[in-house]
Amino acid sequence: MKLHSIETGHFKLDGGAMFGVVPKSIWQKTNPADSNNLIDMAMRCLLVEDGKRLTLIDTGIGNKQSEKFFSHYFLHGDSTLDSSLNRLGFHRDDITDVFLTHLHFDHCGGAIELEKSSGQFRSAFANAHFWTNQRHWEWATKPNPREKASFLSDNIIPLHESGQLKFIERSENRSSTPLGFDVIFVDGHTDSMMLPLIDYKGRKVCYMADLLPSVGHIPLAYVMGYDTRPLITLEEKAAILQTATEENWVLFYEHDPINECSTLMQTEKGPRLGDVFSLNTI
Ligand SMILES: [Zn+2]
Repeated sequence: MKLHSIETGHFKLDGGAMFGVVPKSIWQKTNPADSNNLIDMAMRCLLVEDGKRLTLIDTGIGNKQSEKFFSHYFLHGDSTLDSSLNRLGFHRDDITDVFLTHLHFDHCGGAIELEKSSGQFRSAFANAHFWTNQRHWEWATKPNPREKASFLSDNIIPLHESGQLKFIERSENRSSTPLGFDVIFVDGHTDSMMLPLIDYKGRKVCYMADLLPSVGHIPLAYVMGYDTRPLITLEEKAAILQTATEENWVLFYEHDPINECSTLMQTEKGPRLGDVFSLNTI
């Protein structure tokens, strides 16, 4: 098996919303804000090359939304999903599986594209299955008012209509999958988000998605204002980060603008940042 980091571009979100009750005087030390209080965020996907199977974990935001929509998110950076795949000698049509941690637009927007000739939305991966899970699908297709702006019908309906959608079975909080890795289910950010946990070169690599968006979020109480159940996130973080520390997991950050991977270390104040490195050094 070979893992590759896939940069799909950066965007910006409100720093206060990204750090919940943590004051700006503290979070700006790790995640500096611009004059509009926005902080830089990556959309870093992970490509799992495993024999004939080529699985993309998350897709970034894509490019089909309106100029007005994108004007809120300040997209920037040199890389796109296609340029990052091409650099590795791959094309999106080579992808056999697209695994979606959850269906917020910054994670699944790239799964659907606009076909210019017809003006219709369609699957951006002709030869892939899309993977979510039943519980999250039901949650996303009947969204609560607070999360509604994150579950775009432009993504959800075409995913359903593609005929390429499949569900990972959830058993308790950890399941094996047909994709060659396990997933951990967490319910604090949104209902039934999935974190891939991959055996790689004798280590565990965990794709942290929105449980731990950046290294600035490692202290347990640094929970995003976006989370639907912050106290559940707190419990999930405590349990997962403890195991990650004890077993020296490699944490892979989807949204950290600079840091790709890190380990953790235990301190008397709780988990803190350990070593920082890029994926291709393991
Ligand atoms: Zn996100």
